[in-house]
Amino acid sequence: MRNETESLASYIDALHPIIYINHFDFKVIDEALTNVAQGAKVVEFNNALGAINFYTKSPVMECELEQFLKLSMDDGFESDTIIVLKDIHDQLSNPKVIALLKRIAEDNLYRDEYHATIFIISSKIVIPCELENYITVFDIPLPTNIEIMDIIHDFVKDLEMEVDQETVNDITLSFKGLNEFQIKQILNLAYQDGGYIDAEDKQLILKEKEQFIKKSGMLEIVNFKETIEDIGGLENLKEWLEKKAKVFNNLDKAIKFGVDIPKGIMIIGMPGCGKSLTAKATAGLFEIPLVRLDVGRLLGKYVGESEENMRKALKLSEAISPCVLWIDEIEKAFSGVGGDGGGSDVTTRLFGQFLTWMQEKENTVFIVATANDISKMPPEFLRKGRFDELFFVDLPNGEERRKILEIHLKKRGKWTKDIDSIALIKETEGFNGADLEAVVKDTIENAFIDGRQTVTTADMQKSIKDTKSISSTLKDKISQIKETISKIDIKPASKEEIKAISKINIHEAAKKATGFLGSRNRN
Ligand code: ADP
Repeated sequence: MRNETESLASYIDALHPIIYINHFDFKVIDEALTNVAQGAKVVEFNNALGAINFYTKSPVMECELEQFLKLSMDDGFESDTIIVLKDIHDQLSNPKVIALLKRIAEDNLYRDEYHATIFIISSKIVIPCELENYITVFDIPLPTNIEIMDIIHDFVKDLEMEVDQETVNDITLSFKGLNEFQIKQILNLAYQDGGYIDAEDKQLILKEKEQFIKKSGMLEIVNFKETIEDIGGLENLKEWLEKKAKVFNNLDKAIKFGVDIPKGIMIIGMPGCGKSLTAKATAGLFEIPLVRLDVGRLLGKYVGESEENMRKALKLSEAISPCVLWIDEIEKAFSGVGGDGGGSDVTTRLFGQFLTWMQEKENTVFIVATANDISKMPPEFLRKGRFDELFFVDLPNGEERRKILEIHLKKRGKWTKDIDSIALIKETEGFNGADLEAVVKDTIENAFIDGRQTVTTADMQKSIKDTKSISSTLKDKISQIKETISKIDIKPASKEEIKAISKINIHEAAKKATGFLGSRNRN
């Protein structure tokens, strides 16, 4: 807590009249405040007991917050005073409480003979607009690697355990992104689990960590099995990612060599064509966790709450880094930016906050933003410098459709060389990846119901006929996406198909282009 104590003290010196600490572990904060107090008078209010002695926690006088503030507000004339208010967020809508806090804050700022600083400590941030200019939110930074190691060392020492340094190094990394209280709680769990701490506890740590991150309600750790091989087509995008993976897999060396840390990509395009799949495969390829940011979940009802949540979510992602931060359907998250009305004001601010963070970021959080329709997205978002690259994912071309069908058949152990996937290219025109997957699932289910062991080209053709493709169901949306895309500078995610394929006889051309497969299919 040494650094925190120093910064808290400097906040007091700089006349920040109300310091809001967003924390649930009062013990940790009390320690820091004791260091900060340095002989100043400290008075504390507790919701259950009223006025209490800050050092002994024994009750001094039963009272309501309003009364407490009235009684303590003049203390600042007599001596340097610290007023500690815990978990009072529910009372920050009471006009009298607000007025009293404002009065203390103003006296602190404008009257030389008055010295009282208010500390609000609460697990929830509530900032009434009347106090917006007086409140400074103070963050207790999450422990660094060295601090985490110290926590582990202290823990094992207290329990007189032997843990080798390699294990400590190993589990230290798994604890990144958690606060001291959470780390201790998990260490306790791991200890109770087996009576010792070893490298195998990493799984438990990760599981518990997931829980904490989930409970924070801002980020979600996404578990996935998908790899880059599960993506059919999108060769340009995959090649690009494979290059960046070389950097991410050797971050230390790359940074020392002077390579800029990749910032992230935006993948725009047709629904069901592998955008989410790519987000997952990217994390797999980079060998780092995938965390999803749901901007909708950050919206709060109090002034500044949403911005505060966004700040925390981005900070948490940095704490967990290196990681892939996935923002799905980003157009929905930031729709209404620049529009009228209260709701869109908040979104515009969040959007600006996110852009600044992206622009300035020098961390190892790799953004994958995915979007279907960007016609309502503010143009600043797409400007160079934010993302390393923008990719457009179109409906799969013939060759890609063939690959996607094969991937899904193989996944289910039903791919045989007797299936003439080239013959299916023409019949699946206008299908997206999800449609093709549905065709495969349908075919396999039908074969099972009919009591057959394998599936044939004819089975596939039947399912294709029974499937309504995205091009027929979402015709207008698709042309709208194409129209928007045509106006921006964006790279195609797919390699261009050999032109002849779509122009001449599709079957023959595809056979020529994939000569060896064609000959295998004829056997
Ligand atoms: P979106 O582009 O809307 O994010 P998804 O990536 O979620 O679409 O795709 C939905 C499903 O369709 C995937 O889980 C996958 O099974 C299948 N799919 C889509 N595109 C492809 C592709 N290019 N290769 C293999 N499967 C795909």
